[in-house]
Order: sequence, then structure tokens, then C-alpha cells
Amino acid sequence: MTIDEAIKRYNNNAEHERTHGNLQGCLEFKQLAEWLKELKNLKEKDESKEVRYEYEGYSYGKLDMAFCPSCEHIIEADSENWGCEFCPNCGQKLRWEE
Ligand SMILES: [Zn+2]
Repeated sequence: MTIDEAIKRYNNNAEHERTHGNLQGCLEFKQLAEWLKELKNLKEKDESKEVRYEYEGYSYGKLDMAFCPSCEHIIEADSENWGCEFCPNCGQKLRWEE
């Protein structure tokens, strides 16, 4: 079972409990589904993703901007965040060209 299937299953269980008038059970399954979604997001951020590079025309072919692949946060070449391990905005683990 994948994490997505587990999330779906808990959501289905929540719906099932709700239609049977068990609101407490419904809320519990919903909570479990929420936690799994958070876990899924954390796992995705922990796997490094390559930054997207952009060139501005006038910089002699040098890379001068990079974007976080998860949140599009801009990292400029002359900033202290250039080459940072994690996106300063969303915490995504980043991979940079050597
Ligand atoms: Zn980000």
C-alpha cells in the first residue's frame, strides 16, 4: 500500500463513519489522513530536487538566478542563499550543479 492509498483509505473510512452517524470516528480518520498528508510533504521535501536556473541576458552567459522547484522562490547568484542546502522559503532540499 502506498501513502496515497492509505490517505484515500482513511478518507473513505471517515466518510463511512460519518454516514453511520459516528462523528468521533469520522474525525479520528480525518486526523489520520491529515497526518499522512503532512508526512508525505515532509518526505518529498527531504528528497533533493534540482534547482531551476534562469539566465538574464546581460550577464555574459553566467547563471544568475535559480528557482526552488517546489515553491518558485527566487535565489539570486550574489545572495548568501546561492548554493544553500534547503530552500529558505519552503524548506525543500535542493540540488545544485557543481
Ligand atoms: Zn521552496
